[in-house]
Amino acid sequence: RRLAEQVALVTGGASGLGRAVVKRFVAEGGRVVVLDRSAARLRELTEEFGAAVAPCEGDVRSLASNQAAVALALSSFGALDCLVANAGIWDYGVPLAELPERQIDAAFDEIFQVNVKGPLLAAKAALPALVASRGSVILTLSNAAFHTGGGGPLYTATKHAGLGLVRQLAYEFAPHVRVNGVAPGVIDTDLRGLAALGMEMCSLHDLDLPAKAEARLPTRQVPTPDQYAGAYVFFASRQDNVPATGAILNYDGGLGIRGLAQPRGGDGLPALYNLPEPA
Ligand code: NAD
Repeated sequence: RRLAEQVALVTGGASGLGRAVVKRFVAEGGRVVVLDRSAARLRELTEEFGAAVAPCEGDVRSLASNQAAVALALSSFGALDCLVANAGIWDYGVPLAELPERQIDAAFDEIFQVNVKGPLLAAKAALPALVASRGSVILTLSNAAFHTGGGGPLYTATKHAGLGLVRQLAYEFAPHVRVNGVAPGVIDTDLRGLAALGMEMCSLHDLDLPAKAEARLPTRQVPTPDQYAGAYVFFASRQDNVPATGAILNYDGGLGIRGLAQPRGGDGLPALYNLPEPA
């Protein structure tokens, strides 16, 4: 149990990737405060994990919500060892040319508030407790923190900004608090769109990503949220994560090494070695 006795705060931990991180942290012996805007999903978490999870309903755009979540970690579990700033929304890839002029201000503000101001405020609220515990921060970034086409300009800019936050905060918090990032690729989740664009009820799940993965990803597989969670355990573990701060794990199915002519070069290897084709 690599996180025994450790206390984490996971924002957006009631669904998708964040929920998988919560589940894995609890399995590794940790206790977790979850800050999320979905009261119904927070109730499901409490039913599943009992006293190991303390739910905190709130909005990551508010400093008061982030402060309440940190206070809950201290009052319920006595410390805070790791902040996972994970809550996010997507722009459904709307290109600049198609962003309606009337909504552009509100759309920009909404996505930057959730994806960039959210982690900034969470780090601000958690810093005293993390300095006291010599803890760590992990930001959920994205392939869109490095590459184009993982969203439109709004989402891509927020995730590039998240990369800047990881680096600047790693500098400012050293040597007391480590700050790292996980940059996942495609995940089949309920990731929602911007209310300012009328997309708050859109769910990424409806895009049927697993079926499209073979053609697009070098690994030919869309990992489940659970399969991404190990990266967070690694960065949260005091035992394993001694050297890393300001580091990003590109955890994206190989998006950054796609070839020009075809996404991967090794499709013929099993045949070359007379091995069965992988499922
Ligand atoms: P999700 O919608 O399943 O989970 C996000 C959670 O954040 C939800 O529980 C939601 O209620 C919460 N949330 C959203 N806005 C909030 C707010 N203002 N205040 C409080 N809680 C809020 O989506 P997910 O895919 O698990 O997304 C988690 C993170 O992973 C996001 O940062 C996203 O950008 C990133 N990501 C997702 C993918 C993907 O393909 N799904 C790929 C790369 C990165």
